[in-house]
Amino acid sequence: MNKIRCHSCAKELPEASLKYVVKVESFADFDGFLEDYSGDVESSMVEMLKDMKDIDQKTLESDVYHEAVFILCKVCRDKFYKNLPETSITGDMDREIKDTIH
Ligand SMILES: [Zn+2]
Repeated sequence: MNKIRCHSCAKELPEASLKYVVKVESFADFDGFLEDYSGDVESSMVEMLKDMKDIDQKTLESDVYHEAVFILCKVCRDKFYKNLPETSITGDMDREIKDTIH
């Protein structure tokens, strides 16, 4: 059977040990604001679409949406939370997660 290891520190996580699944999802936010464009919109769009064809599809997709799932030990999960941008909600999220994972 494959052994599960922490994706961060590679520590072995034996069956029934405490492990955390961390799912990170990021997506581009569009606020609906488009700058006034003085040039020819149609030809610019054609140019832009041509440029997009040259960009690797995967790169393009990950610029817009990216999802990653990690299995972490408790130490690495705690480190992960410490490195999150400081916002007022991270504290609440931490508490919520502690309540749901036993
Ligand atoms: Zn770890």
